[in-house]
Amino acid sequence: MTIFSKIVKGEIPSYKVAEDDRFYAFLDINPVAKGHTLVIPKREVDYLFDEEDDEIAAHMVFAKRVAHAIKAAIPCTKVGVCVMGLDVPHAHIHLLPLVNEGDMDFKKPHLKFSDEEMKAIAASIAEKF
Ligand code: 5GP
Repeated sequence: MTIFSKIVKGEIPSYKVAEDDRFYAFLDINPVAKGHTLVIPKREVDYLFDEEDDEIAAHMVFAKRVAHAIKAAIPCTKVGVCVMGLDVPHAHIHLLPLVNEGDMDFKKPHLKFSDEEMKAIAASIAEKF
């Protein structure tokens, strides 16, 4: 089972942003930006582009709803989308609040937020979902 499946099952804690019966959104534990969110299918599938056609379409529509919630909760110009999957073999869409190009740079020092801050960020996005 992947680490993200354990998160979906609640076996590993996460800062939940949103979910429905097929998808789950939660804050990245090592954020590049405040509000950096991962959107995953609950079904275990390694690679985004291995998802079934209806699944990837629904995944993107769910991510769109999450992106609008992030935009409403976190001051930013737009919400950027990134897919890498080099680390965790469970398809995930990164959503990143953007003000400038550098906000998509995964090589810059990542941000640190306290447990309380992460809870507050997740709650502020969840409230807008
Ligand atoms: P990628 O697979 O797209 O290259 O990177 C995986 C992403 O998942 C990273 O941004 C990393 O910080 C995040 N990540 C890895 N393990 C966990 C975890 O246990 N919880 C959360 N919330 N994020 C994680």
